[in-house]
Amino acid sequence: MNNKIQNDEITKLYENWLGVDSYIKFDEYLKEKPILSSLAVSTEVSSSVPTIESPVTTQVMPVIVSSNQAGPESMYSSLENLAIKVANCTDCKLCESRNKTAFGSGNTNRPKIMFIGEGPGIEEDRTGEPFVGPAGQLLFAAIEKGLLMKREDLYFANVIKCRPPEDRAPLAQELEACRKYIDAQINFIKPQLIVTLGAPAAKVICDIKEGITKVRGTWMEYKGIKVMPTIHPAYVLRNPPAKKDFWEDFKLVLKEVTK
Ligand code: SF4
Repeated sequence: MNNKIQNDEITKLYENWLGVDSYIKFDEYLKEKPILSSLAVSTEVSSSVPTIESPVTTQVMPVIVSSNQAGPESMYSSLENLAIKVANCTDCKLCESRNKTAFGSGNTNRPKIMFIGEGPGIEEDRTGEPFVGPAGQLLFAAIEKGLLMKREDLYFANVIKCRPPEDRAPLAQELEACRKYIDAQINFIKPQLIVTLGAPAAKVICDIKEGITKVRGTWMEYKGIKVMPTIHPAYVLRNPPAKKDFWEDFKLVLKEVTK
């Protein structure tokens, strides 16, 4: 998209994106997917399907983005070397149960948007790719149908690179141990915009103290890069009406990238 998007065009895109219902078919999808189906009726909270107020909220230690921190250039010679370092990382206990680290994927050359989520689920742990599960499907549908962008033009990563056992919420010390990698990734990739998905990613990247419902839809900043915190697509899958908020935030992103 090269030109400014007018309001009526945004409305049209919204209606188009509402077609995600037919693309994903939420009801049928929940019936077909036993894991999601059980989550839909469960009152238990899983980290791979975060609630709007993720249980990790109370566990995350404050994150200080310090300009005095050593930059990734001083620690890693390239993005490829960083990925190798992550694949061999044993800096927290999550290394003991992982199959594969999910480092990141997509356009590494200053993409318009870098999406940052929480951590790998079962599919990501199996494949080593982020966002390959149901939440990823919804995210890609929103990107392609709503933002009219190609996923391969953007970049995708998580703040945690190894799957927590049984998809529990990542602990504060795990987020702290892993955050050096997402910091370095952002520095190498230099995205034009960042969109964080869910509370843990917003806490790590934006150092927010409030819940995600308070801050979603508000532009923030990470080392000079604009950041839009929004809810996690996994939450939207469990709570389809939440896609309105999800899309409202996407509209702000759309306006920003088409300025
Ligand atoms: S989660 Fe991050 S810090 Fe922990 S072992 Fe995996 S890569 Fe290392």
